[in-house]
Amino acid sequence: MEHIENNEQFQGLRVNKGISEQPTINPYLNNFKKFKRKVYTISEYVEGILKGNITILGQAVTLIESSRQDHQAIAQEVIEKCLPYAGNSIRIGITGVPGAGKSTSIDAFGMHILKDNNKLAVLAIDPSSEVTKGSILGDKTRMERLSVEKNAFIRPSPSAGSLGGVARKTRDTIILCEAAGFDRIIVETVGVGQSETAVHSMVDFFLLIQLAGTGDELQGIKRGIMEMADGIIINKADGNNIEKARLAQSHFRNALHLFPLPESGWAPQVLTYSGYYEIGIDEVWKMIDEYITFVKENGYFDYRRNAQSKFWMYETINERLKNNFYNDPKVQQELKRCERLVLDSQMSSFAAAGNVLDVYFKHS
Ligand code: GDP
Repeated sequence: MEHIENNEQFQGLRVNKGISEQPTINPYLNNFKKFKRKVYTISEYVEGILKGNITILGQAVTLIESSRQDHQAIAQEVIEKCLPYAGNSIRIGITGVPGAGKSTSIDAFGMHILKDNNKLAVLAIDPSSEVTKGSILGDKTRMERLSVEKNAFIRPSPSAGSLGGVARKTRDTIILCEAAGFDRIIVETVGVGQSETAVHSMVDFFLLIQLAGTGDELQGIKRGIMEMADGIIINKADGNNIEKARLAQSHFRNALHLFPLPESGWAPQVLTYSGYYEIGIDEVWKMIDEYITFVKENGYFDYRRNAQSKFWMYETINERLKNNFYNDPKVQQELKRCERLVLDSQMSSFAAAGNVLDVYFKHS
């Protein structure tokens, strides 16, 4: 018989000759122990950040984003110590609907910025990231050239928590990036919902990316967003689209004329450009530089930063109070009870709110 092992009397006997037993644990794993993430002290974090060490900066940002109390406590101390070294940057907010060309443009703007020996951090506030877990913004792979530049630091949106919480984390990250020597900060957001307001409240210049559409491109934009913009740039002004982009430019210019002059005293400009073909990038940057010079001279630059600091102080208080309130077990119990009564029309909303607040204030 050719295959003797197939004989019934050998069933169950399968011996593989020549294979020695493999250890169950890969001995090389031991070597990886030394790569385990190092735990830094607060002063090591601060020193590392001030020296511009990107690895340490990245880990400190991870602490900011962590929901663990001990991480938060370390992060806050690091931020306090970095604060005196922060503030020396130009902070630019960029918004636009998905597909407007934000990542393509930021890649182009970023390369332009780096040419002048600046250091650029790209951060994001993505209100959808809580749901999608991944984020649509700030992803390294979306900015191919920038992501391999050593003077660029790209960080996707923090994902956990409310918009207010996410925005606060991004603001804290700005401070660390500035302390690490990043003198240009871009904060990107998608043109949907509340996130523009959050970004607007942490930047010096707010840029709205638009596309030329079918002539009614003004209809889709909320008035509030146009009012916030210090500049509107119409992307994809290339090929057959150049004329349409120019037309959109004049529509936007006309629309802006109807708004009162913003507090800054700067009349927002409307430019066309192509992020993909890198046409008109210099002009966009010239506009931003001119704005910064203008508002530094008339005092609005410092005024806006101070107003923002004040805003974030109150935002943080509101956020903490709200979390403290809603995480309180007694409040949660009373909320449940009162909610039922309200739904059964046995108690007014007003009285129910009063009850729950009483429970909170009496024992806190
Ligand atoms: P985002 O979702 O706002 O980040 O938009 P992307 O940067 O991902 O761009 C969306 C699409 O538009 C991509 O297919 C880009 O290649 C394209 N795009 C971006 N900028 C330009 C541009 O200046 N001209 C043209 N023709 N296409 C562009």
